[in-house]
Amino acid sequence: MRINTPDYVSTTNPCKVCGPLGVSMAIKGIENAMSIMHGSQGCATYIRRYMISHFKEPLDIASSSFNESTAIFGGKSNLEAAIGNVNIKYKPELIAVAPTCLSDTIGDDVKSYCRECAKESSAELIPIKMPSYTGAHLDGFYAAVKSVVEGKSKTDEGIQKVNLFPSMISPADLRYLRTMVNAFYSDSMILPDYSSTLDGEIWGEYLPIAPGGTPLKKISAAHLAEYSISFSPFLRNEISAGAYLEQSHQVRHYSLMPPVGVRGTDEFLDLLGEKSGKDIPEFYNRERARLIDAYADCHKYTFGKKAVVYGDADFVAAICSFLDEVGINPLICASGSPFNNFKEYISNCLENIEPEIIEDDVDFKSLEKLMEDREIDFMIGNSKGYPLARKKNIPLVRCGFPVHDRVGGPRFLHVGYGGALNLLDNIVNTLLTRKQDESTIGYSYL
Ligand code: SF4
Repeated sequence: MRINTPDYVSTTNPCKVCGPLGVSMAIKGIENAMSIMHGSQGCATYIRRYMISHFKEPLDIASSSFNESTAIFGGKSNLEAAIGNVNIKYKPELIAVAPTCLSDTIGDDVKSYCRECAKESSAELIPIKMPSYTGAHLDGFYAAVKSVVEGKSKTDEGIQKVNLFPSMISPADLRYLRTMVNAFYSDSMILPDYSSTLDGEIWGEYLPIAPGGTPLKKISAAHLAEYSISFSPFLRNEISAGAYLEQSHQVRHYSLMPPVGVRGTDEFLDLLGEKSGKDIPEFYNRERARLIDAYADCHKYTFGKKAVVYGDADFVAAICSFLDEVGINPLICASGSPFNNFKEYISNCLENIEPEIIEDDVDFKSLEKLMEDREIDFMIGNSKGYPLARKKNIPLVRCGFPVHDRVGGPRFLHVGYGGALNLLDNIVNTLLTRKQDESTIGYSYL
């Protein structure tokens, strides 16, 4: 949804980033892997800057560094040079090559370039099959995961029973998911896994590539797993690794709702329990009970409140599902990029409440128009909504990606019962702060 009037026809303050950024984030979650942005140097610099500001970690992204003549005659020789340099400097085992807007504009064929460069490269080359103009960061993220699973050489020896393909969640979320899966399986694969590469320890010496990430041997064995789980039920098949494995290798694919809040987490744990034949560990039953208790404790603060939820489609769906559980009305649900069946996706996440507006492809200017004349208690989403929240004098609960104006974005937990507790505390404390700030009396009990 984009507001189109004679004085306003373009995107203004987009509520999304581009596909190559999503590719870069996904590739950071693979062991000993590097990404090359095939295009102008500015793309790699911009993406690095954007991600470093959120993750606060060293982050190298290579570029084939187009110049004026490359933009006219094509970037094949630049890509050859980039692949050679990356092999020498970083010694990766896998290089993912993503097209960017400039190389897409001139029609460079990244796939055939990679095929031609493969003999000279010590690292396996994976072209990312997604034009940079299509969709947004979430599409690039999923396209990268699918391209790697599809393009990586395959082994005959199975390792993991289950493949987990999470959405674009935080490193803390990935650690939490891993603990959950480990309670049922001694070996599983989470792809991508940037829980340590983008939220790591201090290094004693410079390391060209951050340690950690999904082991390459597990990616090679993904087609031999018993089943896969992903958390984006309306994802298009062409960028879904789970759908690819099911269609090409008969690996059963379960596409669940995001595991945020009670319902989503229950569904995930129930599936793991059913497939593994093991009971849900007592720890999770206790944590679930504490969460329900906290819902009851906070109900007087949350019930009937109205929120604006914005960000990528999976994030918005997950947060709406959680808000629905705690009695908050997600009055406006806005995805920053186009997403198939977005209305259906959101409606499926809600049991009690009907939002007034569910729109995809929304920029912040359109969101401002949508918010006009509506009573809203808070906004929830990434920090790019801050200028709008400030203008409207509405409290903002920061979570998701990116969080550029606070610390702790990578450590913010959203998934599981633990994530729901974290979200609840944040939202309720934000509402209480507003109440206290607006009061003429210095209440210390609320
Ligand atoms: S030019 Fe295109 S690919 Fe490069 S940073 Fe901008 S939107 Fe992303």
